[in-house]
Amino acid sequence: MIVMKFGGTSVANAEAIKRTIEIVRSRLDKKPIVVVSALAKVTDALYNISYAAENCNLTEAADIIEKLRIRHFELANELLGDSASLKETLAKLKAEFDELQKLVEAVTVLGELTPRIKARIISKGELLSSIVIGHALTESGIATRWLDARRFIITNNEYLQAEPIIPEIEHRTPAEIDSAFSSSCDAVITQGFVAATSEGETTVLGRGGSDYSASLIGMAISASAIEIWTDVDGVKSADPRRVANTRSINRISFEEAAEMAHFGAKVLHPLTIEPAVMKDIPVFVLNSLNPENSGTEIVNYDAVEDGVKSISFKEGIVLMNIFSPRMINISGFLMKVFDIFAKNKVSVDLISTSEANISLTIDDASSMEAVCSALSEIAEVRVFNDKSQLSIIGKNVVKQRSLINWAVTSLKNTNVYMISQAASSDNISFVIDRNRLDEVLQEFHTYLFEYKWL
Ligand code: ADP
Ligand code: ASP
Ligand code: MG
Repeated sequence: MIVMKFGGTSVANAEAIKRTIEIVRSRLDKKPIVVVSALAKVTDALYNISYAAENCNLTEAADIIEKLRIRHFELANELLGDSASLKETLAKLKAEFDELQKLVEAVTVLGELTPRIKARIISKGELLSSIVIGHALTESGIATRWLDARRFIITNNEYLQAEPIIPEIEHRTPAEIDSAFSSSCDAVITQGFVAATSEGETTVLGRGGSDYSASLIGMAISASAIEIWTDVDGVKSADPRRVANTRSINRISFEEAAEMAHFGAKVLHPLTIEPAVMKDIPVFVLNSLNPENSGTEIVNYDAVEDGVKSISFKEGIVLMNIFSPRMINISGFLMKVFDIFAKNKVSVDLISTSEANISLTIDDASSMEAVCSALSEIAEVRVFNDKSQLSIIGKNVVKQRSLINWAVTSLKNTNVYMISQAASSDNISFVIDRNRLDEVLQEFHTYLFEYKWL
């Protein structure tokens, strides 16, 4: 069995879905489990619906819902024409939209958007897309069983950033999938991103979480491969939307890919790699717009060569300087500082310390106020919001002294607020001013990939 995950752009419209169906058809001998994202931009729209509801703006919520309804109904009509399953598909879509409407009304009545209800709202994208695509697959001659991911992707109750409960997933998933295939179907379809607590309450795995779903399913059924189908020719030397002349990477290790994802490359959800590593399952990143391209294979660390593979970045990060001249016992002080971050569930990316100073970077600024007010009781805190972080990633890059020397020299006209050589030895990161990011990114990329470094 293989898992094939199709992201938002691979299922954006009827044309993209038809392409996706042909890609699935080419893998029928491998018993595909198809994991789909919401249609492109639908999850963003669902977030906007939940904000509108929270602000009691029913007209705006209704407007967005109506646009989504039209988009999904038109798509179903386009793909299913006057086939027998059109009526059934439209009825299922209607049921999902009716529930969405009720959820929005409940939020406005209560005047409160709880994470539990928000998860139910934003999970609708994958439920809707999987209904339409499931029927379209069957109508195209691929007998497909639709499975509700909430029956087997089991998580804790952090509704919006839920953590999978691996033993439960391993216990439930094979039974669900085996029983689907034993009912003589050619393929199974389910939702990415969507999960549930063991009590059956809907949760989601965080933005971009469909990759993670695919990998969890792959792990649970010991799939022979996990294919992540997206809109670029695999993992590239940098984000092609921001950097010119990027090139595709044929093979990259699980560790390098995880490092890239953690340090900003959107191509894979940062946690995707972990479940695949547990079972040593090869992961491929492929292009649904160009299925002939061999994309990227993600392999074991030992199977890749040393050297720079990619540059990733986080554009808007927070840089924080924490200063305390009274720091008598540095380890006790660090403990107090990190306790504050832990209590506020804020994760720190880069850190460097000196006798009286701690500098660190944070990706998600949403809990900054609480963190700063707690920190200001034990230290002086300065926060900078106009910074970016750029990371050079590749096996053992830290050991390439001349690379670091080159990077530091080439940054001579740029303020560098922090340099960090990751403990993993696969990552060198720099914190610079945000307004310098594009120029430095391109300069690094040109030097490292076009002039062929060393
Ligand atoms: P999907 O909807 O298929 O999950 P995403 O938008 O989440 O797709 O991820 C694919 C996008 O990731 C690409 O379109 C590309 O712009 C971006 N990206 C960022 N960094 C990289 C990289 N190093 N290699 C490839 N793509 C990257
Ligand atoms: N639809 C979800 C999102 O946009 C999950 C995903 O596409 O991976 O974040
Ligand atoms: Mg994605």
